[in-house]
Amino acid sequence: MATTDGEWYDSRTVRAIATHFSPGYEPVGMTESYVIIGDGIAGSSAAETLREEAPEADITVITEEGEALYNRILIKEFAKGKLPEAPISIHDESWYDDRDIDLQLDTIVTDIDPDGHTVSTHEGATIEYDKLLIATGGTPTQLPVDNADAEGIHHFWTFQDARSIREHIEDADSAAIVGAGLLGIDLAAICGAQEVEANYLMRGDSWWRYALEPEGAEIMHDAMRERGVTPVFGSGVDHFETDDDHVVSTVDPNGEEFDSEFVGIAIGLDFNLELLQDFEIETDDGVVVDEYMRTSADDIFAAGDLTRFYDTILGEHAQNGSWGSAKEQGTIAAKNMIEPETDAFRWVSSYSITHFDFPFLSFGHPTLGEESVSKKYSETEWRRIAIKDGKVVGGVLIGDLAPQSGLKQLMREETYVGDQKEVLLNEEFSADDIAAAQEQ
Ligand SMILES: Cc1cc2nc3c(=O)[nH]c(=O)nc-3n(C[C@H](O)[C@H](O)[C@H](O)COP(=O)(O)OP(=O)(O)OC[C@H]3O[C@@H](n4cnc5c(N)ncnc54)[C@H](O)[C@@H]3O)c2cc1C
Repeated sequence: MATTDGEWYDSRTVRAIATHFSPGYEPVGMTESYVIIGDGIAGSSAAETLREEAPEADITVITEEGEALYNRILIKEFAKGKLPEAPISIHDESWYDDRDIDLQLDTIVTDIDPDGHTVSTHEGATIEYDKLLIATGGTPTQLPVDNADAEGIHHFWTFQDARSIREHIEDADSAAIVGAGLLGIDLAAICGAQEVEANYLMRGDSWWRYALEPEGAEIMHDAMRERGVTPVFGSGVDHFETDDDHVVSTVDPNGEEFDSEFVGIAIGLDFNLELLQDFEIETDDGVVVDEYMRTSADDIFAAGDLTRFYDTILGEHAQNGSWGSAKEQGTIAAKNMIEPETDAFRWVSSYSITHFDFPFLSFGHPTLGEESVSKKYSETEWRRIAIKDGKVVGGVLIGDLAPQSGLKQLMREETYVGDQKEVLLNEEFSADDIAAAQEQ
């Protein structure tokens, strides 16, 4: 917009001046500009919601990846050789064109100027925003040991990672997996599906020991063994041996050597926070946001894996790395970017594993809580519920997932169960069991 002295101001500046002189000023026909960094599920769902709710807005989505949104959950099925590429893609570029969303692929945002309301890219472009969404997720943590960058050693986050895992594992005769969590077990299952014998090196005495107990973990260990994956406890990685820059074996801290032409590492995620280092914004191993996905910096929102969000169910800040949660955070952020405090984030997440003959599901925050109840029902059925201040805060179900809806309902409704925790273990549990018990 041109001013009388011939200078040009962007829409945000015009709005700020107008609001200053005329409180309550509402621009007519003025378009807001929204910039989203990251085209994962959080960024993409925010773009979709912005377009639906603000048909006139300028929307730009910038991603460092060379492809538009794909289903990160399904890339393991591609790596197993069970799915071709096509069904993994969610949006092609025409999806953005059709919605008049400016998608910038292969573009890295290198700087944010919160005062100037601009972001800069690695190609030297500067893009103005009225509201900015940071949805940059994380990057797999590297193992700080010798030869960790040798050929044949893989981390797992992107579709490109899945392509190189698939290409490489098909030629491997032996494998080692490191990282006893939800992504590590995907890598183990890929070895199983590709019929490559693997050792799964774990530091502790069981898989996902912070969420499971020995009885539940043993079901998972047996399932791994059936797929040709051997769990090795009290182990880990001291270093890798290489031949001609290619990994050939993994040596654990006990000095034991495991043949491994393929190595998969999943020891955690480093949140992509580099962009936030040069200005004042609250971080705490993640970007701190309130229930409206607002960061502490004006006009900057964040959504997805990298947030430490205010969990309205727990009544405290929490973190969650799951597809459904990231999607919902993107949607909620978009609504609040358009109109402040429209909608608060309130969500019980779930994360399922379908590698074995029985289903597995974790929900909420299974590693939180000061107490828990658990029960084994059969060789492949087990349940554990985490409880904090007398309320369900998460859990793990193996074998029978039917109780999940009742348990999630109790968590969502913050129902007090402290005086009837054992009821949560009823074989055919429903939320009504708790109400019935309370009435007695
Ligand atoms: C193999 C695998 C299996 C999984 N399985 C499940 C599952 O079964 N169930 C489940 O609920 N969850 C699962 N997850 C987790 C789930 O996929 C994530 O929680 C979710 O995708 C996070 O979405 P996000 O949008 O927050 O971040 P991401 O998907 O990580 O997206 C962030 C994007 O930002 C881009 N970016 C980062 N920095 C910049 C920058 N400076 N400039 C431009 N772009 C940038 C990144 O390249 C990336 O594309 C799985 C994850 C993986 C890797």
